[in-house]
Amino acid sequence: MPDKLTILITGCSTGIGRASAERLARAGHTVYASARRLDDVADLESAGCRPLVLDVTDEASMEAAVSRVDEEAGGVEALVNNAGYSQSGAVETLEMDALRRQFETNVFGLVRLTQLVLPGMRARGFGRIVNISSMGANFTFPGGGAYHATKYAVEALSDALRYEVEGFGIDVVVVQPGAIRTEFDKAAVASLERASGADDVYGEFNRKVGQATKEAYEKGPLKLLGGEPDDVAKVIERALTAKRPRTRYHVTPSAKIMIGQSHLMTDRIWDRFNATQFPKPGRS
Ligand code: NDP
Repeated sequence: MPDKLTILITGCSTGIGRASAERLARAGHTVYASARRLDDVADLESAGCRPLVLDVTDEASMEAAVSRVDEEAGGVEALVNNAGYSQSGAVETLEMDALRRQFETNVFGLVRLTQLVLPGMRARGFGRIVNISSMGANFTFPGGGAYHATKYAVEALSDALRYEVEGFGIDVVVVQPGAIRTEFDKAAVASLERASGADDVYGEFNRKVGQATKEAYEKGPLKLLGGEPDDVAKVIERALTAKRPRTRYHVTPSAKIMIGQSHLMTDRIWDRFNATQFPKPGRS
């Protein structure tokens, strides 16, 4: 594998994607920094990136992005599947369209883009795919069922893929960040407006989910033990450049502690832990 790679990153308008694009361009890689709207990544050109339009829910957009990298740079040598968000809310209140969009972005987009770059990687005899999962692929917070489900799905797909493509010289790596200060929490809180189906029964619960999400990023232990987008970017760089990358990286103390703690708890104890933060809907 060459020292300098041609890397395609999704979701570079903000947060982890943006920090990764900046860091990897600084290190001398050819970085295609993509976003749904070109305006959101145009300024990354001055950081040495090549801005690109890419909506992971749109087949034509994904095909066009991959073709452009093929034509300009000879193909995608490394893919960072980063685009994602949380559609929060009690399961019964989720609008099915919103739930489908959640999977379309966090899971199906990731799979489809991977399928589009794999033939080139196989032909070249090497490639690297880094999938941004979450500490939330190890446990589930109430009100986060849809989001956690997508990250569990990313883990299963990544595990299968790792085995299936290793023989072609392609490494698949999962990165599990803990709480990272980005636009993520704001998008999660905003998504609750699309989850108001059974407002009378779950209204207070969904409101508390929004509040807990906001507070987790503004104060309290998760914030203290969380990190900045560049903390994840550093790990993504390691995953892309290590001779033999690990299969999984946990980023921030919050991820390490929460994952360890959740593995020690039974389901009932996990529920009791959650009851300290979320009201239980239903007759009390
Ligand atoms: P941000 O909200 O800052 O960034 C999310 C990015 O995904 C944005 O660039 C957004 O673009 C993009 N995106 C959303 N939908 C699409 C789409 N259809 N096509 C292309 N891009 C899209 O959050 P983060 O940087 O924190 O999130 C990055 C990844 O990290 C996500 O997969 C998230 O699940 C994961 N993660 C984040 C954690 C955190 O605490 N922040 C913790 C664990 C995992 P746009 O601006 O157009 O909406």
